[in-house]
Amino acid sequence: MPVLTTIECPVCWGGVNVSADVMLSELLDCGDCGAELEVTALSPALQLAEAPMSAEDWGE
Ligand SMILES: [Zn+2]
Repeated sequence: MPVLTTIECPVCWGGVNVSADVMLSELLDCGDCGAELEVTALSPALQLAEAPMSAEDWGE
């Protein structure tokens, strides 16, 4: 069975479940805030960063 690890969401600091065989650059959704997250590092520690919403700039 898949082993899950929990990583802090960089947006809301909630827990995001990540499977043990996650791949670099894989996109995940935070179950708490709904942010799209990208795996930016696998070692030495798994890291997530908020993925860009789209190629377009929303004029922030
Ligand atoms: Zn979140």
